[in-house]
Amino acid sequence: MNIHEYQAKDILKRYGVRIQEGIVADTPAKAVEAARQLQEETGTGIFVIKAQIHAGGRGKGGGVKLAKNINEVEEVAGKILGMQLVTPQTGPEGKKVHKVLVAQDVYYPGPSQPKEYYLSILLDRATGQDVIIASSEGGMDIEEVAEKHPDKIVKEFIDTRVGLRDFQARKVAFALGLEGDALKEMVKFIKNLYRAYVDIEASLVEINPALKTSDNKVIAVDAKVNLEDNALFRHPDLAALRDITEEDPAEVEAGEYGLNYVKLDGNVGCMVNGAGLAMATMDMIKLSGGEPANFLDVGGKANAQTVEAGFRIILKDPNVKAILINIFGGIVRCDRVANGVVEAYKNIGEINVPIIVRLQGTNAEEAAKIIDESGLKVYSAITLQEAAEKVQKAVKGELV
Ligand code: GDP
Ligand code: MN
Repeated sequence: MNIHEYQAKDILKRYGVRIQEGIVADTPAKAVEAARQLQEETGTGIFVIKAQIHAGGRGKGGGVKLAKNINEVEEVAGKILGMQLVTPQTGPEGKKVHKVLVAQDVYYPGPSQPKEYYLSILLDRATGQDVIIASSEGGMDIEEVAEKHPDKIVKEFIDTRVGLRDFQARKVAFALGLEGDALKEMVKFIKNLYRAYVDIEASLVEINPALKTSDNKVIAVDAKVNLEDNALFRHPDLAALRDITEEDPAEVEAGEYGLNYVKLDGNVGCMVNGAGLAMATMDMIKLSGGEPANFLDVGGKANAQTVEAGFRIILKDPNVKAILINIFGGIVRCDRVANGVVEAYKNIGEINVPIIVRLQGTNAEEAAKIIDESGLKVYSAITLQEAAEKVQKAVKGELV
């Protein structure tokens, strides 16, 4: 599960990670109020207004702006709130901004230059260890750093049975070229960040940039935290941070029916039982010249209700030109699934795209008969090849 920057910073602060202080607001007037309070608490006279959406690269898209004094806050916040923010991570349609974080400026002048670093902690699935990834090239895309300056990235693997050792935190801080107070600050920062990562069962904690201020403090200017879905039941307080307005509405609805749905960009909707078969079906659609419009695993319960829910979710996508249902009937008998498809179809009313149904397994032939005799725009197929050919025709509008 993804959470917002302001939520991530709140959590990290509880673990002693120094953060750029800020207050969240959902109207320009509240942003001004937030700025006033922030000025009182931190003494800052310059503010950064940051769009709160579940995507990075906000700065590049105009979602992070400076207000040079309190009088500018209202106007700047007004520009960002309500905007459809497009960043390299949102896709071309962008994301609507409902909230901004009004934050203190931490790039103030002082004895040394402020400098940005990159720091993240994540689970390395290949080695089964946690890994700290750090770079002196903070602020920019880490993918870009990895490509252009791979030598500027350091990795420190952590044995999860032992946890982060002090020397490892020091090693990373040294590798970043820090010294003196800033080095000590960074070591503390890394240790606290790792404590947070373990305790909240995050799959990723990414701070980009972590800033060494002009007075040698280390501060999280940005914070991205991904929480492990399978561990959320142990953290009801964290689970409550979910913001479903940031998620695809069709995916949220599918979750309510216990369906596993991921929207994709193609034109062939598919409904399958079992994740492996769903992957194979998507491959098959591609081989037949189509592009899958989604991944949809109905799991073990392919009945009229789940099929109907699946239809409704798939049909929300205007790109869908045909639907392929691929069900293996083991415990669920194919004839029952076929009746479920017919019933769901009738419940929904007019469905304007052809539906190809491949039912294989127990009672497959009876099922094909039910489909063919239904009088609906539903076509049966028994082999994968047959289904593939029918999908190809359906997409071209040749299936009648
Ligand atoms: P992202 O673009 O979504 O990654 O958002 P960030 O939180 O990383 O902010 C983007 C950029 O805004 C940072 O890399 C900084 O250069 C700039 N920025 C953030 N906070 C401050 C601040 O307090 N003062 C100044 N001058 N710039 C800031
Ligand atoms: Mn960032």
